[in-house]
Parts: sequence; structure tokens; C-alpha cells
Amino acid sequence: MVSDELGARLKAYEGRAAAVAGVGKDPVNEPMIRHWCEAMGDTDPAYAGPDAVAPPTMLQAWTMGGLSGHTGHTGRTGAYDELFDLLDEAGCTSVVATDCEQEYLRPLRPGDEVTFDAVIESVSDRKTTKLGTGYFVTTRMDVRVGQDLVGTHRFRILKYAPARQKGKSPRARRPRPVVNRDNAGFWEGVERHRLLIQRCTSCGTLRHPWLPGCNACGGLDWDTVEASGEGTVYSYVVMHHPPFPAFTQSDQATDAAGPYAVGLIELAEGVRIVSNVVGVPYDKVRIGLPVRLEFRRYDDEDGALVLPVFQVQEGREGGVG
Ligand code: ZN
Repeated sequence: MVSDELGARLKAYEGRAAAVAGVGKDPVNEPMIRHWCEAMGDTDPAYAGPDAVAPPTMLQAWTMGGLSGHTGHTGRTGAYDELFDLLDEAGCTSVVATDCEQEYLRPLRPGDEVTFDAVIESVSDRKTTKLGTGYFVTTRMDVRVGQDLVGTHRFRILKYAPARQKGKSPRARRPRPVVNRDNAGFWEGVERHRLLIQRCTSCGTLRHPWLPGCNACGGLDWDTVEASGEGTVYSYVVMHHPPFPAFTQSDQATDAAGPYAVGLIELAEGVRIVSNVVGVPYDKVRIGLPVRLEFRRYDDEDGALVLPVFQVQEGREGGVG
């Protein structure tokens, strides 16, 4: 076994207190219980009414300082920070939370005032994982009301030196559109090289992007009309940063090595759509430029994606500039 001097120094932190006699920012209270239940979708009657208890899984919530931090006594000793500094210096600069375990000894009720102590329970031997090589650190927090232990919260992280990526990184794919019940018809149209615009069958208003209802009359019934493909640049931005590999790697289909123009295109039918303007350098895109729809395929070798883009109509610039 390779001697692990760092490991020995880290092991010395086992059993050291990370927090002593911390005080919960708020007593256990009904509004926080209600918000938690609403966020979780938990409608159990045990968490409402005059005899309400707090959901057991809220245990840690009562010990947290929130965005504004603890105003009272946090109990932090600095041992956890020292341990992190040691690991940082050793190159274990990344951290990932791996798991947490909780034990509940008795329910918490509105009015209970929580205190807590935390101890660095264990530091593992050096481990090599897919993410990299480092150490698992387990912290145990004991939560009390008065002298009673009401629950424990164990929290484990891996603090590690990221593994070097071997070989060439895989080619970046274009981000995929989020397809849902409301817009599936649009993407099915794109797949067949048709740009479909929703039309309200009650009042005839066209709309894009696709929505479940009409924003003119509220009608829920709709059909579609196919866009002619003619349009103009209504507005645009030029994307410089952050460079995104799928958009900046050399690819004859994108016209997009480096900055690229994202246009808000007004279609001849009157609705507007966001898409790439192609066919001219990004710095030649102008408001009012006539464009025409075309469909391009991306990532052909890897689950092809068809996207509508707008090609500048050469020699037909509207003199706006
Ligand atoms: Zn309508």
C-alpha cells in the first residue's frame, strides 16, 4: 500500500466537532411546514391542523441559516474549513455531495426550538472514483430540543482531484429542444420540413411559439397553417460568450465558427420566431434583412436533429442598416 501522509493528517479530524451548540434560526413553525409540503406535494393530514407535526425529512431545514445566513449562534468551530483547506492544498479542489442519512427519534412540533451539534464522523482512505481521486468525509449532526435528541443527520461528500479526461473529448451535440404536449406538433412539422404556425379556430389569430390556448380570445381549439418561409430580421443579437462547443466547432452546416447571429425573424404571416441567421457573416446581419426559411440537419452521426434556420436572401437587402 502506498503511504498516504495526507490521509493520516485527515484522519486526525475524525471525532472533531464541526459545530457546537448551534441554534436553529427559527423555531419549528407552521408556515415553513406548509411551504415545504406545498413544494413536495405532500398532502398528508399529519402536517396540518392544530396537532400538526413537521415532516421528519425537514430535520435539516431547522438547522439551516437560509440565504441571509445565521443571525444567532451557528456553532461552527472551523474544523470543517481546516479539513477542506488541507484537501484543497493537496489538489482535491472539487466537491460533490454523495448521500445523506437521517434518523428520527421523535416528531418535531410547532414551537420546538432546535439546537444542534455536528461532528466530523469519518474520513475515508484515499479512493479513486470515476470523478477522480479523493476522500469521503462524513459529518453527523445531532439535533436536539432541550436535552432530547430528536434526530440525526449524516451528510457525506467526496472531496477530490478531478480525473484528467483521456483522449479526445467527444464531439459536442447541439442542445435538444424540450418537446412536450404543447409543442410536439411543431417539432413533428420541422422533422418533415414544414414550419407550422398555430391558428386559433375561434378567432383566427396566429401564434408562435406554440401554446395550449389563444392569447387573443382564450380559445383552446386550434389548427395549423404552414409558413411560406418568407420573413425579415425583426431584431437580432450576436452571441460571443460563452463559446459553446456545439455552436463553435468547425462545421460547414452551421456557418458558426466563432460568434454567430441569433435572429428574431418576423414571418410573412406576422408571427415571430427565434432562430439562427445564416448565409452572411454575423456582423452583416441587419434589422430588416430579408430571409428565407430552410431546414438543416445537425449531428447526423449521432441522432440527427432538424432545425429551421433563416438564410439571407442575397441581393435583396432592404437598404436598412
Ligand atoms: Zn382566439
